Amino acid sequence: MEKNNQQELAMNNEPSCSRVLLSKNEIGRIVFCEGCSVAELEIGAISLRIEGSALNSLKMLLADAATRLTLYQQEQAVYSKQTAINYNVH
Ligand SMILES: [Zn+2]
Repeated sequence: MEKNNQQELAMNNEPSCSRVLLSKNEIGRIVFCEGCSVAELEIGAISLRIEGSALNSLKMLLADAATRLTLYQQEQAVYSKQTAINYNVH
């Protein structure tokens, strides 16, 4: 177990690990390590290593959450508008 962890750490620092910048924007960046076949999501001081194949699932998770948050906020806006109208009736 410990040996595996050490190997992983060693792999991470191996010079053979060539990294490719996949994407970058104001919130962070995603680098792909070819040697480890791992995508590294970097947001500020946080670095998250995920399997390259999991990127699509992560994409759907984020997109779904963003869509639902927008819908939620729209619902809330409608609700507070209706509440405001009801108060104006008096
Ligand atoms: Zn690597």
